[in-house]
Amino acid sequence: MQLKRLEAYGFKSFADKITIEFDHGITAIVGPNGSGKSNITDAVRWVLGEQNIRNLRGTRSEDIIFAGSAQRRPLNIAEVSLIFDNDGTLPVDFREVAVTRRLYRSGESEYFINRSRCRLKDIYQLFADTGIGHDGMSIIGQNRMEDILNSRPEDRRAFFEETAGITKFRDRKRETVRK
Ligand code: ATP
Ligand code: MG
Repeated sequence: MQLKRLEAYGFKSFADKITIEFDHGITAIVGPNGSGKSNITDAVRWVLGEQNIRNLRGTRSEDIIFAGSAQRRPLNIAEVSLIFDNDGTLPVDFREVAVTRRLYRSGESEYFINRSRCRLKDIYQLFADTGIGHDGMSIIGQNRMEDILNSRPEDRRAFFEETAGITKFRDRKRETVRK
């Protein structure tokens, strides 16, 4: 499966809509300090359902909406989409899968799969055990390896379970037991 494209509007420093096309092979993003490189990985994590604002280097959820600059007024909405070429990794019958998350300054947030409104839970389910989820191995930030090596055994176990692809069974079991 391939991540084909990222589109973002109003997310952190991206006041204008940006589109990043990912070609086959390796894509490197370079730029001066503070130019928004890490904001791109934050955008990926956010659209995959990250709920902990600290993992996105913010303190309040509206910190991810463009806050304005000397030349630009603040925006009231942030929207990020990831577009995948789905080879069957994602359990839906679409070759192209677009996942979108939107946040309004009022605090309301929305999620979409191929432009149909869905729940956060649907996003989690879509990526469960693919290793792509916001807490999977697809994004390794600075200090992440150190965190994993120093983590508590139960946290480390959760990490291995996600990587091994058995999280969805544990989640389903927990839901069944609750019912
Ligand atoms: P470095 O090379 O230092 O790691 P970087 O390219 O990774 O830099 P980022 O951390 O992605 O840079 O971008 C930081 C910039 O994003 C800062 O200038 C900050 O002001 C800006 N920024 C973050 N959140 C917002 C927001 N809500 N509105 C406007 N600008 C924002
Ligand atoms: Mg950075």
